[in-house]
Amino acid sequence: MKHTVTLIVPCYNEEASLPIFYDAVCDVARQLPDYELTLLLVNDGSRDGTLAIMRRLAKKDERVKYLSFSRNFGKEAAMYAGFCNAKGDYIAVMDADMQDPPSLLPQMLEILAGGEYDSVATRRVTRDGEPPIRSFFARMFYRIINRISEADIVDGARDFRLMKREMVEAIVSMCEYNRFSKGIFGWIGFRTMWLPYKNVERVAGETKWNFWKLFKYSIDGIVNFSQAPLSIASYTGLGFTLLAFVATLFIIVRRLIFGDPVAGWASTVCIILFIGGIQLLCMGIIGQYLAKTYMEVKRRPHYIIAETNEESADRVR
Ligand code: UDP
Ligand code: MG
Repeated sequence: MKHTVTLIVPCYNEEASLPIFYDAVCDVARQLPDYELTLLLVNDGSRDGTLAIMRRLAKKDERVKYLSFSRNFGKEAAMYAGFCNAKGDYIAVMDADMQDPPSLLPQMLEILAGGEYDSVATRRVTRDGEPPIRSFFARMFYRIINRISEADIVDGARDFRLMKREMVEAIVSMCEYNRFSKGIFGWIGFRTMWLPYKNVERVAGETKWNFWKLFKYSIDGIVNFSQAPLSIASYTGLGFTLLAFVATLFIIVRRLIFGDPVAGWASTVCIILFIGGIQLLCMGIIGQYLAKTYMEVKRRPHYIIAETNEESADRVR
């Protein structure tokens, strides 16, 4: 019996790259006669002709399924929708811009078929074509998050990975609203093989990530997978309390021995400002966690599907 493979492809304004990606996948599918490939395209509220292309592809090729969101919910939601609705024995997530080369699929399938691994993940060993400042902050982020969280996140890891069904079921069961897939993949465990490859530049269109979005995404990653910032806040508070105690003693003793010449208001103001700053920072950290908790408690759906050619799809989840 043929194994079935579902390729989940989140697409946001990908009218230029989607046809190129589709052709590349068709080429690869021809090299894999033992597997039945299905494309699960997720239109994440694109504003260009992406949905029209999906409809057209689905019409001419019955291996193409699509889910179209009612608005832009973000790549994480698109991937989650894909995982919830993928039916294959093997399931992969791939970007539509060819930065996740479909040509790696045969090798990945071979590794999984060997039975020793549950998933094959890819990581970029170079960051060619990326602004150096972005690479620098990316490296720093991976160093920090690995030190302070229990999810093991590999530097340069892509979301592109091929997984067995069991692993995807574990991912679907993690229904948190604030999703950070790189952390989720690491957290659930399973035997993963890492496949290094050279960075490929996007084939058409442009990246949806700017520096600010990436910064916010990295803060999300940290808040989702680590409580270290909260501990840092409380230890800083403890440290300052002890310091204040010692300083008070020092001032009392000095007053008793030397009398009280009034001086040093400038340093006092500096200290007040400094402590005020630390307090606000710590409140901000608590606020970040509280805001996440608020969103989790509301239990809003991750995505809403407005249109699909997959009858059994979970339309809201
Ligand atoms: N994407 C998405 N929703 C978004 C942003 C991006 O589905 O809100 C998709 C996008 O179409 C692409 C993938 O996620 O297939 C990766 O996006 P992009 O190439 O812009 O990111 P980069 O490769 O620069 O990290
Ligand atoms: Mg890309």
